[in-house]
Amino acid sequence: MSALAVVDLHAGYGKIDVCRSISLSIEDGECLALLGPNGAGKSTLLGALAGVVEGKGEITLSGRRLDGLRARARARAGLALVPEGRRNLFAPMTVRDNLLLGLRLLPSAERDQTYLWLLSLFPILAKREQQGAGLLSGGEQQMLALAVALSRKPKLVLLDEPSQGLAPVILDQLVENIRALRSMGLTVLLAEQNQRFAAALADRSIVLCDGELIEGGMAALADSVLANVLPP
Ligand code: ATP
Repeated sequence: MSALAVVDLHAGYGKIDVCRSISLSIEDGECLALLGPNGAGKSTLLGALAGVVEGKGEITLSGRRLDGLRARARARAGLALVPEGRRNLFAPMTVRDNLLLGLRLLPSAERDQTYLWLLSLFPILAKREQQGAGLLSGGEQQMLALAVALSRKPKLVLLDEPSQGLAPVILDQLVENIRALRSMGLTVLLAEQNQRFAAALADRSIVLCDGELIEGGMAALADSVLANVLPP
């Protein structure tokens, strides 16, 4: 059984249909990269899976239908979104309080142990525990955003452009962090523009262009971009 199966998903904002007829599946423990240029609809697709953007179509996580459920119920079912720009963080709150907010969805008996597990995964967060999230470096914020998502012990993480704005040395660290999570069996859907970063992590990639998945990968995308900019 696939970890995630999506059939004929349409997503957008009110009357604006951004993503059309999206069908995809991800196996348990797999990392699938969703590549595509600016404005292709990657964030819209991830948002529709998480239930924070309007969508219509079938979404099944580990055999359970999620479409029709609200975002919170999808999170409880095991799906976690790490939004673009680390928007799941509350900048004025400390690292510790951001993590505790995430842990609220867990049964209380599991919270302390999970908190310590998160600090062991990201030792830099242990050092910054009492610091405001807004004062962390970009890389540290990305690690905190990931840790907050993991605090709900998800089956599937939707990672929206984690590489955005990070220096190469920080990206290497982030790749190591995500690889470590994958070795624990986490399934990942990674939306990225940075192909190198995605290639370092993903087992497979698909390409979104203008709201639709295209056959032929990045080569086909390059052809379609060139066709639009070159004279006939
Ligand atoms: P980027 O890499 O720049 O984040 P993306 O592939 O994630 O791009 P989206 O952010 O999903 O693309 O945007 C796809 C389209 O949806 C764009 O045309 C964008 O202007 C539009 N869009 C995004 N958010 C909204 C919104 N809240 N209301 C209306 N249109 C939106």
